[in-house]
Amino acid sequence: MILPALIVAAGVTAAPVVSKADVRKKEAAVAAVEARRADLVSLADQVWAFAETALKESRSAALLADYAERQGFRVERGVASMPTAFVATYGEGRPVIAVLGEYDALPGLSQKALPQQDVLEAGAPGHGCGHNLFGAASLGAALAVKDLIAAGKLAGTVRYYGTPAEEAVGGKVYMVREGLFRDVDVALAWHPSDRTRADMQGGQALVDMVVEYRGRTAHAAADPWNGRSAADAVELFTHGVNMMREHVKPTVRMHYVVQDAGDVPNVVPDHSRVWVWARDFERQGVDSVVERLRKVAEGAALMAGVEGGLRVQGGDYEILINEAGASLLHRNLTWLGPIRYTPGEEAFGKALQSSAGVEPRGLDGSIDPLEGQEKEGGSTDVGDVSWNVPTLHVSVATAPRGVPWHAWPVVAAGGMSIGHKGMMQASKTLAATMVDLFDDPSARATVRAEFEARTKGFVYKPAVPDGPPRVPSPKP
Ligand SMILES: [Zn+2]
Repeated sequence: MILPALIVAAGVTAAPVVSKADVRKKEAAVAAVEARRADLVSLADQVWAFAETALKESRSAALLADYAERQGFRVERGVASMPTAFVATYGEGRPVIAVLGEYDALPGLSQKALPQQDVLEAGAPGHGCGHNLFGAASLGAALAVKDLIAAGKLAGTVRYYGTPAEEAVGGKVYMVREGLFRDVDVALAWHPSDRTRADMQGGQALVDMVVEYRGRTAHAAADPWNGRSAADAVELFTHGVNMMREHVKPTVRMHYVVQDAGDVPNVVPDHSRVWVWARDFERQGVDSVVERLRKVAEGAALMAGVEGGLRVQGGDYEILINEAGASLLHRNLTWLGPIRYTPGEEAFGKALQSSAGVEPRGLDGSIDPLEGQEKEGGSTDVGDVSWNVPTLHVSVATAPRGVPWHAWPVVAAGGMSIGHKGMMQASKTLAATMVDLFDDPSARATVRAEFEARTKGFVYKPAVPDGPPRVPSPKP
């Protein structure tokens, strides 16, 4: 099979797009975001304090959906069988421009908005990926565009997708499968980061698997020959994975945790379970690894004399980058200019870097160049949207450079003005770029044409199993 990405490399040259959109409309959109600053900060701070994890974001989703509704959006709640997923729509007809919002937290990362590690509530979740800012900034952009549509300055439909459970389930994959993006012309998303740039790298595709075994229990000393250990199968499986490492491409990542392998040594364990993720920069690369892991899992069962094997339970595509769209985002980032910080914020940033063991160089609100971006690890369910709808993706600094992500420094910065500044910048960038897409049909057509060329012959296959998503728990 030929990889779609290789076709792309051979066939698509994306010219930078110079938008002909009316700059006064962009200024109006940016002003509309600024006018809601207090509300957006309040929304972000409330979601930060709720700190709800995947598919449990009921208060966070309700807060954002209620706000959109009060501002005149039509809101459809509980879409794609997820109570915390919603779609908020304003306007009519084409184009339909969408912006994605996230609001789920991560388990165990509770932290005060202080520059040293200080737990807010022991064992509670925290916004270690900045999704409290993600959800509010995207909504701010949608609201700004709504103002322009209401004033007759733009025509068409703006839609905000409240997408839950990015961290653990991939809510967007279920929303794509449900067909909720079918009529969307272009989608936009951003992500909190320690840098600011229009993204030209799509992260990694991911497949999420479980390997589970059922053996036969026995007294571990009296009659072990009657037992067949499910823990043995886990050991054989993980050994197989680690043998495989030498024979996969350097871009492949495989990581696992053993979730169950028995309780006490004097009982032969009859159940075991390993949670495994495989990643690569392209989905095809992951799929071939998954098929090999499936055989390793079956081989381990055979050797241990137990039943069981590998089951895929989810996954994300890598983000399909749209270079024309990235050039629009980059121009708007540059037009807005770098984020400026106060001495107090600089001190906060340096303290975070010092506590995290990173060189305390302070905050960096500058904009990275569009070219020369290195490939980076990490996956997102935005990837699945991007293979179905042209998707523009931007990262905006909400934390000091170099601090560990999915960790307490990100929670701390995301709950105070450093995070708020990044959120406002993201919201304005998205709003200005949405004006480009509404106001300049040729910019929209160029984005769309690049997408069509890159997805020629591509067939989308969501990694999620049939049925509604499972609510994750750390020890199933
Ligand atoms: Zn995230």
